[in-house]
Amino acid sequence: MISDTIAAISTAVGEAGIAIIRVSGTDAVKETERIFKSKTPLTEVPTHTVTYGHIFNPKDGIKVEEVLAIVMRAPRSFTMEDVVEIHCHGGVVSVKRVLDLLLQQDVRLAEPGEFTKRAFINGRLDLSQAEAVIDLIRSKSDRAFNIALKQVDGALSKKIKQIRHELIELMAHIEVNIDYPEHDVQEMTSSLIVNKSTAAIEEIDRLLKTASEGKILREGIVTAIVGRPNVGKSSLLNALAQENKAIVTDIPGTTRDVIEEFVTINGIPLKLLDTAGIRETTDLVEQIGVEKSRNALEQADLILFVVNYNEPLHEDELAMMQQLQGKQTIVIANKTDLPQQVDLKVLYSHFPAQQVVTLSILEQEGLDQLEKAISGLFFSGTLESNDLTYVSNVRHIALLKQARQSLEEGKEAAEVYVPIDMIQIDIRLAWERLGEIIGDAVSESLIDQIFSQFCLGK
Ligand code: GDP
Ligand code: ZN
Repeated sequence: MISDTIAAISTAVGEAGIAIIRVSGTDAVKETERIFKSKTPLTEVPTHTVTYGHIFNPKDGIKVEEVLAIVMRAPRSFTMEDVVEIHCHGGVVSVKRVLDLLLQQDVRLAEPGEFTKRAFINGRLDLSQAEAVIDLIRSKSDRAFNIALKQVDGALSKKIKQIRHELIELMAHIEVNIDYPEHDVQEMTSSLIVNKSTAAIEEIDRLLKTASEGKILREGIVTAIVGRPNVGKSSLLNALAQENKAIVTDIPGTTRDVIEEFVTINGIPLKLLDTAGIRETTDLVEQIGVEKSRNALEQADLILFVVNYNEPLHEDELAMMQQLQGKQTIVIANKTDLPQQVDLKVLYSHFPAQQVVTLSILEQEGLDQLEKAISGLFFSGTLESNDLTYVSNVRHIALLKQARQSLEEGKEAAEVYVPIDMIQIDIRLAWERLGEIIGDAVSESLIDQIFSQFCLGK
């Protein structure tokens, strides 16, 4: 297969001393050779060896940059095409100059994710592995990184393939017996369908069980910071994030919108949401904020409910405490640098003691206690299991659920001896849905959509 030649900077721009340009395609070596001078021409160097040389402008012959080039011939490369890596050590400006020269040859700039897309198309990665590469690039915590890494290894693909293998065998069996409408053959096939689909459903359930966990770890535990205006929600967000993203003001109700911030507390990734004060209001702008707060509250895995240590509890807050029953909540009485006005006994009567924290953000006192309370809630053991294949991708979760649904329907039909040729449709559907997870039978547009999520150069 002939592919055009693409190039991009594949290291993060402006980061280290070295920058790498990756060139891939049928003519990758020939095109690079046009701007590269070395003792042995690139077209003749052995694969996977480092070649010292110079980049020059073919128009005037002037040297532009001293570089190292590595030729990786197909199929032993990431894209399974001929690949040249050009290692420049002159920083951003010079790497851009080298790339520009390449692009003046018969080379075009790679689209985001195009290298990985080629790796997929050429059979180097399946779709779940390719998506895991996206997750790797984006993962926000060490644990999420490990999960994504496992997926690149193909742990999920392997499970899916096993289940599909069982289903295809079942389908073959059904196919053979469709032409024998005798009663006992019907009966035997039906019970086989029930057994096999029950087993497949159990496998899918095992994968789905990890899904909520995987989601938490990849995107962070969704944590809503709620409370009346001016109690210190934005200050808390800032203190935890240690950078000033939310605006802190003295005017009550100035947090109009929900602001997000990712933080890691004792290794637990949290996605913090600062919400406008939850209360009835007549101000329209404020109302939008309140509406969003309610949504945030519903979606939250954890709620940080902030009250003022320096004020008696407000009736809104008493109502709020009722609403929060049954939710994972930590109550924070802030501003302990000021005299106590809040009745802590009321708080303790609604929440367990280890979930009530008094602190002063202003004086940076008690924040460690808050962090302890948060990790206490979540590291009671359940998040530690490591041996599972994690499903952390929304698309995968949806497909697993659809496959499960079809199997369930097939199983139920088999139990009441619906003709087996009708049940076959359900099994086939399940098999197809599972195939979509690993990129079997996915549409061109879905592939484009998935790969366009990549950063440039990957
Ligand atoms: P929000 O409306 O709940 O988001 O509250 P802010 O974070 O905007 O804070 C409201 C005001 O309380 C600001 O003037 C903060 O500086 C102040 N504040 C926050 N934390 C403390 C604290 O621990 N002690 C005192 N005395 N003031 C605080
Ligand atoms: Zn605020």
